[in-house]
Formats: sequence, structure tokens, C-alpha cells
Amino acid sequence: MIRYNLICEHDHEFEGWFASMSDYDEQAGSTRLSCPTCASTKIEKAIMAPAVKTARKSEARSEQAAKAMSAVAAKIRQEIDTNCDNVGDKFAEEARAIHYGEKPERGIYGSVTPEDSSALKEEGITAQPLPDAFVPDTAKPKLN
Ligand SMILES: [Zn+2]
Repeated sequence: MIRYNLICEHDHEFEGWFASMSDYDEQAGSTRLSCPTCASTKIEKAIMAPAVKTARKSEARSEQAAKAMSAVAAKIRQEIDTNCDNVGDKFAEEARAIHYGEKPERGIYGSVTPEDSSALKEEGITAQPLPDAFVPDTAKPKLN
């Protein structure tokens, strides 16, 4: 048995099963093959484009993944915004104060110069770069 996607003169698509290709040719040339929607007997094989469908599917999938990722990033941004203090360019100072117990422990984020960054590292204070996608909007430089 072979299956064909068929289309009538009015663009109704339907499936037809045939014993063989010649069986299809025979039926298509007669009035035995008709559209289930409008009963037209002017039937053709629908043109298939599997490659296009596959591409669309993966496109939709990566779009979905991007959506999920930006939703996660938005959540993390929100978390950081509510739970951490933006200390701006005082990051090194604040990180030290927290590290040496001069200030209560809390989540902070801010900017640091490369010199400060290596100095902090030497003192055993670990700081990790915050991916741009996780930086809260409130901490981003205003564009205007
Ligand atoms: Zn039809």
C-alpha cells in the first residue's frame, strides 16, 4: 500500500491509500476517486515539501528555547534585583567589608576594575562576572 496526499480542484486536501502507483493512476483517471469534502473528481497528488517542514520545526524549537531562556534570565534578573544590592563602582570596597566582617553578609553586585579584580582574588575574595543577561534593568546604564 502507498499513501498519497491528494488535493482536489478546490484545494481540499485528503489522504488516499492505493495498492500501487498504477492503482492510483487508474483511480485518478476515473470517477471512483473523489474529494470527501466536495465530491469533485478532479484530484491531484499534493506537492510535498518535507525539507521545509523540518526547517520550520527546528526554527520553532529554537524560538521556544530562546523564549524559555529569556524567561529564566528575567527571573534571575528579578532575583538579583530584589536580593542583591547594586553597589556600582564601590564593589571592591563593599566586597572587602563583607569579607572581613565589617559589614553583614549580603548579596552585592557592581563594577570592578581589572586591578581591583586581581587584588580581590589575591585576598581570597571571589567574585564572578555577572552575565549581561542577568544584570537587572535598574542597574543598566540609561541610554538617554
Ligand atoms: Zn474538494
